Parts: sequence; structure tokens; C-alpha cells
Amino acid sequence: MRQIKSFFIRTYGCQMNELDSEIMVGQLEKRGLTRTREEAEADLLIFNTCSIRDLAERKVMGKIGKLGRKDKRALIGVTGCMAMAKKDTLFRKLPHIDFIIGTNNISDLNNVLDEVLTTGKPSIRTDDVFEENLDYLVAKRDDLIKAYVSIIRGCDKYCTYCVVPYTRGQEVSRPPESIEEECRRLVEQGYKEITLLGQNVNSYGKDKPEWNCLFHDLLYRLDKIPGLERVRFMTSHPVDITLDLMKAIRDLPSLCEFVHFPLQAGSNRILKKMHRIYTVEQYLEKVAQLREIVPHVSLGTDIIVGFPTETEEEFQQTYHWVKEIGYSVAFLFAYSARKGTPAFRWKDDIPEDVKNDRLQRLLSLHDEMATEEKKKMLDTEVEVLVESKNRDELQLKGRTRCWKKVIFTGGDHLIGTLQKVKVHGYSHQTLLGELITPKKLLVTG
Ligand code: SF4
Repeated sequence: MRQIKSFFIRTYGCQMNELDSEIMVGQLEKRGLTRTREEAEADLLIFNTCSIRDLAERKVMGKIGKLGRKDKRALIGVTGCMAMAKKDTLFRKLPHIDFIIGTNNISDLNNVLDEVLTTGKPSIRTDDVFEENLDYLVAKRDDLIKAYVSIIRGCDKYCTYCVVPYTRGQEVSRPPESIEEECRRLVEQGYKEITLLGQNVNSYGKDKPEWNCLFHDLLYRLDKIPGLERVRFMTSHPVDITLDLMKAIRDLPSLCEFVHFPLQAGSNRILKKMHRIYTVEQYLEKVAQLREIVPHVSLGTDIIVGFPTETEEEFQQTYHWVKEIGYSVAFLFAYSARKGTPAFRWKDDIPEDVKNDRLQRLLSLHDEMATEEKKKMLDTEVEVLVESKNRDELQLKGRTRCWKKVIFTGGDHLIGTLQKVKVHGYSHQTLLGELITPKKLLVTG
């Protein structure tokens, strides 16, 4: 059997993919392989891919395609969403790859490797249903302060533009005991912040009514873990943001006051065409309710401009609501048709220059609003979880509970601690501050 000793892994796309890569790294290290950061040194190359946008797919296809032209020494595996979306054509398009593993089969990685090494033949595992026996505890993380923890996989919402229900399958919640155990272990290892991950975390537990544990119940359980300073979650579907969740954000000390609350579009006709299953009015009502219950909450959003048939007037409605609502964080995209989705069958009829113009107008609006928000924060005190050194060696960087990046001067011993910082300035993406924690901490750590 052919021997391999080292591996290289490259991750594309979202936090779910990052976590899946961390699990694969753990599995390979458990097998005795050593991770290398240099692609050219590795005996095994894994590309954990994303399919959410056409550009992401083209990039990775180009990258792996180029490898085929070199002398082939390493084994090559393709995993992740593109492995699912293109499972029928990948071996034909990239004949030099050795295995394909879909999003629901990452626990099979070592078995697939054994098969390829023994037979010398390509192998593929792309089940439509998630295997619930995935060992999450094996994950090997680079970050020592913040960790992602998966609580639910897949999505049942079927927005007409989105590949996720096809690449990650139906919603499958992870047992609360297993999540709690992983979080406890992470805290014991020194982690301070945990981000609960899922395509729609708010659906947690709905597929398993016998557990009697919905998303807010899980949050109350995790809040009891001593030493867990911060809990975040992403991402949410507005329909599933409940009153119970809002109260949990208000009441639980560990739960950060930041909610990713994706509007997607400000026109009811487009929302219906996207199959978002809420109207602008229903969305606004929830935002108002959340802000009443948690007055200092920050909101994030995703917006798609140039969805098929979107008129200028409908774009103006999106622009209007983005301005009215005021988001701290906004992920803004021009529509890109994804094969396999219902919207792919419709004419992508908004010219690229019109899409880009709408996107630019929205980006400028968001920039202006973000600057205004930062201005309002001048002279306020914020709590920062210190994550690492900044590029300037004397400076540290971290994030507030509302996910704002802050840079301030301080020593390395503060990394991994919570500090009070006074905001005295800002730059494009960042707040600039000054440490106001008692001076003795500066010298004693
Ligand atoms: S809710 Fe999110 S993940 Fe699910 S289909 Fe819609 S956009 Fe995709």
C-alpha cells in the first residue's frame, strides 16, 4: 500500500466549511499524518470547496485543474459543497483527482483514503443524508480563543437562489448533550468564545421534538457552563427568530447582542420570488420587537441585488430599508445564478453593469452608515475579547460583544482576556481605543 505522511488542506467559503476542515485535520492527525502549510511538500492535498457563488467554484476548478498539469506526486481530494454540486461531472472534468467526499460524508475520510491507497483507484462518497456519527471532538483548531461548534446541519428552507439544501441536505440537529460536552471541553482548554454554527441555527431541535430542546433551550443550557464568556450564533432565518430567542439575548450573560438577521431584499414581490417566506412588514415587526427587548442589539444582514426581474424601483425599496433599519454588518452581493436551484431556470435578466451599479450604491450607503455608527461610539467604553496582536507589534486586536473590531495598545499577556477599552477614534473597518482596565493588569498580566 502506498504510504503518505503529510497533508495540506485549503478551505474555501463559509464557517461551516472551516469547521469541517478542522474536523478533517483532526482525523488526519489522528491517523498519524502531519499537516504542512506548503502545498508543494504534501503527499495529500485536500480542497474543501464552496459552491455558493459561481466565482468561488471557478477559482477552485482553475486551481485544481492547474495541478493536473504538473508531475502528479500527491493524492488529491475534493470535499465540500462543490463536491456535492458537481459530483456527477468532477471526475470527468478533473481526471487527476483521487477522491470526492461530500458534505455529509466527512467522517468517512480515513476509510476513503485507505481505499484509494490500497486499490489505486478513485473513490467517491456523496450521500444526500448526513451521517450522524460524525466525531466532532476530533476537530483540530488553529484559533485558541474562539471556536466554531456545529449544532445543526443542512437547511429545509429552499430559498430559490440557494444551493445549500442540495449540497448540505435536510436539517439534522445535533444532540444537545454532545454540543454541551464539546463546549465544556473547549472551555477547559481555555476557549473564551464559541460560535454556534448552522445554516439556520434557529431551526435547532425542530426536527427532533422528542428532545424537547429548541434553540433558546440550548442557549440556556450552554450559558450555565462556567468560564464560557461569550456565545454567538450564525446564521439565522428571520422567520425562526422567536420571542424566546430575543428574551434569551436579553437575559443570558454569555449571549452576545449581535444578530445576523438577513433581509435579502426590500420588495415583497422579490422576497416571494426568492421564497423567503416573510414579507417586509413581518420582518420589520420582528426587528422592532427585538430592538424593544434588547435595545443595544446590533444587526447584520445579507442582501442580494439584481435578482431576476428586480426593477430599479424594487432595488430602491431595498436601499430604503437598509437605510431605515441600519445594520452594523452587511454582506452585499450581486445575484449569481447557481445551477441546480429553481432560480437557475429563470432568465438572469439584469445586466451585469446594472447589478454592479446597484451593488456599489448599496455599498456606499452601508459605508456611510457604518462610519456614522463608529462616530457615535467615540468616547464610549466597550468590552473587548483580545484575540491577537495587530500588524503593528505593539498593538492588540479583538472584538466587542457586538462584533466590532477594536485595536488598542497593550501587551501580549492580555491575549485571551476580556478588557475594557475606551474608543477614541476609528478607521475604515475598525475602532481605535485605549485600554482602561486597571493599570496593574498591564504589568502583572
Ligand atoms: S435559509 Fe439560507 S441556507 Fe437555507 S436555503 Fe435560504 S439562503 Fe440557503
